[in-house]
Amino acid sequence: MSKKSDEFIGILAIFGIVIFFIFKILSAIFTLIADNIYVIITVILSVLGAFIAFLLYFELYFRSKKFKHIKGSIREYTDNCNELNHYIQELKGSYVNIESYNYGIGELTDNSAYNFQRKEWSKVIQSNQIHHCSANVCKNASNQPIKYLCKYFGIKNDEESLSKFEKVLNDFTSVEQGKDLLKRERNSIMRRISKSIPFLIKKFRNEQLIRKLGFETVDISETYIPTFTFQYVSAGGNSSSRCDIKLNIENLNLLINYLNDIIKWTKSIAGQRALMTSQLRDKIKGRDNYKCCSCGLGIEDEPNLLLEIDHKIPLSKGGMTTYDNLQTLCWKCNRTKAAKIL
Ligand SMILES: [Zn+2]
Repeated sequence: MSKKSDEFIGILAIFGIVIFFIFKILSAIFTLIADNIYVIITVILSVLGAFIAFLLYFELYFRSKKFKHIKGSIREYTDNCNELNHYIQELKGSYVNIESYNYGIGELTDNSAYNFQRKEWSKVIQSNQIHHCSANVCKNASNQPIKYLCKYFGIKNDEESLSKFEKVLNDFTSVEQGKDLLKRERNSIMRRISKSIPFLIKKFRNEQLIRKLGFETVDISETYIPTFTFQYVSAGGNSSSRCDIKLNIENLNLLINYLNDIIKWTKSIAGQRALMTSQLRDKIKGRDNYKCCSCGLGIEDEPNLLLEIDHKIPLSKGGMTTYDNLQTLCWKCNRTKAAKIL
């Protein structure tokens, strides 16, 4: 016999042995199952039963008088948290009020007869917050983001534009601080009632517990922060690059300082006007002892109180961002005041 057929018989033998053992093992398993079928069914039913019992327990607990009592006892706090949550959502729209150019939308179609690889073209997105530019501008924008942002996205170097961005900074800072304070406040309420909540509920149903207590979901994402993009896609569609500039608190501070440097105040104004930056916000709060100048509530009374900076005489009525015209207000007083002015 040839060497090749020897090998073939060898492989066949091994294969046969493996199949034999697999059958042996399977038949042993089937015999085991058949012999213990009642035990196995009992185990499966017990597990299923326990699972259903747990679900029932959770459901009944949330409908119980005891739970409703706990929920009622913190209603004032949950309402307060939800109200602040709504307020934060409103503040997130601050930027939307600032006009930006809309150049319209066109569609780019590749009509070339040759089968070119133009996959980078698919990255071309039309939006008034995207500037299509040369590779060079895109690179420079990443080196001097604020300068290029102003130049290519039509941000004017004037007092009006500066004031608008100061307001955005003020509102966005409140959003970020508000989100944080809201989380802390919710945790402190949960800690207070923790002893009255059964262990199983806390361990396995914490998210549901928070919802059932009446807390609305807090959106902690930063998607509300506008992003400006410089995008370069080569004519051939083979290469591309982009530079994203996020208008977050850090960049807003830089933008405000940049605009301020360009505007060059007339002497009489320069002496009085302050820049609404994160630094000034902290300074005013410190001056007012972290207390609301209207209702007197401070962080000593409520550690998770959201404090905001307000113009006593609003900008819309000729008020200025000066040290004397700024005051600390709690978010509730600030909102009430804003509603009255509107
Ligand atoms: Zn107040």
